[in-house]
Amino acid sequence: MSGCEARDAKKLVRSLSGLRMVPEHRSARSPFGLDEPPWVPDKECPRCMQCDTKFDFITRKHHCRRCGKCFCDKCCSKKVPLPRMCFVDPVRQCAECALISQKETEFYDKQLKVLMNGATFFVTLGTSDKSELMVCRLSNNQRYLVLDGDSHYEIEIVQISTVQILTEGFTPGEKDIHTYTSLLESQHITEGGNTRAIGMILQYKVPGSEELTQMKFTASEDFSSNKKLSASWLAAMHKATKLLYESRDQ
Ligand SMILES: [Zn+2]
Ligand SMILES: [Zn+2]
Repeated sequence: MSGCEARDAKKLVRSLSGLRMVPEHRSARSPFGLDEPPWVPDKECPRCMQCDTKFDFITRKHHCRRCGKCFCDKCCSKKVPLPRMCFVDPVRQCAECALISQKETEFYDKQLKVLMNGATFFVTLGTSDKSELMVCRLSNNQRYLVLDGDSHYEIEIVQISTVQILTEGFTPGEKDIHTYTSLLESQHITEGGNTRAIGMILQYKVPGSEELTQMKFTASEDFSSNKKLSASWLAAMHKATKLLYESRDQ
């Protein structure tokens, strides 16, 4: 088992918002993680920030655990899982946040597992014209992309600067700009649509170097049975990219 697969020690902490199971060291936290928001101070919110009802002894205020804003019970009644903040139990959230968290539950229940199970791709490093058949998967601690073939690579997720998903019918170049997702340089995110994903170009920093390394993943044409698996892995990666973008934007 390589270093990147080490199970990071976790501890139970109690915050204002509830019990959380977090890594012992902050450096070991998941790249998909979000920090708990600061709570809007009680004295700054005399009224519900959604329906404007005035708070008093009967109408009590509640803070949404995801956005930290202040609401009445009616506007902040839903308890929804919030794995990105490491909460052990579902926590109280406003309607808007509850909707986002519910959508993310799908990522945690499905796509994250797809990414961890891995898929097979032809991998090309830099501008090399040689490619290698490799199994690509997300490490159990969610912090590395692990590639296994004749060679072995571990790419730290936080070092990835751009993810470009390539779709059927488009060759890499200007035409696939609609699927371009930049994490650090651009605020612009567009959907790839319903076309099947057939590859991905990653740009990432290797520790100790300021220059970006590029790696291209191509779904294998020869292994037709794996094609569907590769496509769902890439779709999951696309979704993961959006979550990473939000985490960094925080
Ligand atoms: Zn309200
Ligand atoms: Zn909220």
